[in-house]
Order: sequence, then structure tokens, then C-alpha cells
Amino acid sequence: MLKIEHIGIAVKDIEKSNNLFTVLLGIEPYKTETVESEKVTTSFFKTENTKIELLEASGPESAISKFIEKRGEGIHHIAFEVDDIEQSIIELKQKGFVFISEQPKIGADNKLICFIHPKSANGMLVEICQEIKHSK
Ligand code: ZN
Repeated sequence: MLKIEHIGIAVKDIEKSNNLFTVLLGIEPYKTETVESEKVTTSFFKTENTKIELLEASGPESAISKFIEKRGEGIHHIAFEVDDIEQSIIELKQKGFVFISEQPKIGADNKLICFIHPKSANGMLVEICQEIKHSK
């Protein structure tokens, strides 16, 4: 685990939350992106040492709508950056962590992502992510 890459926050209305976080942080989101595979719309704010990812459900079957139904808006996951996601998954599995899906997926912000089940991480949803390196 290299560093906290971002903190994901589940929100009901990303437009409203973009405005709120723009006032709170004093910066505008640097990108907004819909990830079809995850059924979410995301926006990202870059703070000095990490990023804030806002997530709004883009459909009723989105994990974000289920999360908000159960627990309300708020911190949804913490994402740690790794160099080699495939290798990290193998190592973390050996250490006993259970993954929601063991196959990395393409997430927002040019990342391969994978989630550790909250059951194996003190109730916290942990994302591990790796920057997608484009070969020239
Ligand atoms: Zn994330």
C-alpha cells in the first residue's frame, strides 16, 4: 500500500455536493466522469496529499444507491494505491483478505480497481487501485 489515493464519499446529488465541496475545499472538481460498469457518476477534487471522490448512483441497482439506502450519505470507501494490483490481490488474499471481486476492473480516473470486502477489513470498504500505464 503506497498511500491513500483517495477517499470515496457517497452522495445523493453530485451537483449539490460539488458545490458544497468547492466551498469547503476552495477548489473545483478537476473531473466528472460516469463509470458505466459501476453505475456511478464521480467527481474528483485534488487536495494537497490525497483526492476526494464523490459518488452518485447512476441507476437504482448501483451499489451507491444501496449504500445510501442503508447507511445514508457519507464515507463509502478508502482507496490505497499500489504498483501492481494483480500482485497485491494475490498477497492480500494470502494474508486472509476477501475480495468482492478478484478481477481488477477499470474504474474512474484512469485506474484499475478492486475492492476488499468490508467483512474482512473492520467494516470498512477498502479499494486498491493502480494507475493504468499506457504503453507507447
Ligand atoms: Zn474510489
